[in-house]
Amino acid sequence: MAFTERYFSLIASSGMLIGLEPKKVVSIMQQTIRQSIIDLLKKEQVSVRDLSELFGCKEKELCEHLEHIARSLRPTNRFVIVAAQCKQCGFQFAKRTRFSPPSRCPKCKSEQIEKQKFSIR
Ligand SMILES: [Zn+2]
Repeated sequence: MAFTERYFSLIASSGMLIGLEPKKVVSIMQQTIRQSIIDLLKKEQVSVRDLSELFGCKEKELCEHLEHIARSLRPTNRFVIVAAQCKQCGFQFAKRTRFSPPSRCPKCKSEQIEKQKFSIR
């Protein structure tokens, strides 16, 4: 089991022990994972795939966390997105605003895509 899964099951069981509602426990876990993602993004540039390996969460779930983080950052922090790029022809997905990685290059149709990376400065 991944570290975060163990950690979350610990929060879940201790939350229930002290009589927290399941909804409240889930919200604490969401806040915890978002804070951990923020701390990481401040130190490193990471892709959704990197986060998925680190946190043991689905990529789709992590995209939602990233959207939430980007919306709710304090003005002193800037959410930075390094555009995804086609490894074949170098096409940059500069206009992409979604957090999920593109699956194929519109120019050369290659599926070899260097995923976008995220960080906070
Ligand atoms: Zn291409």
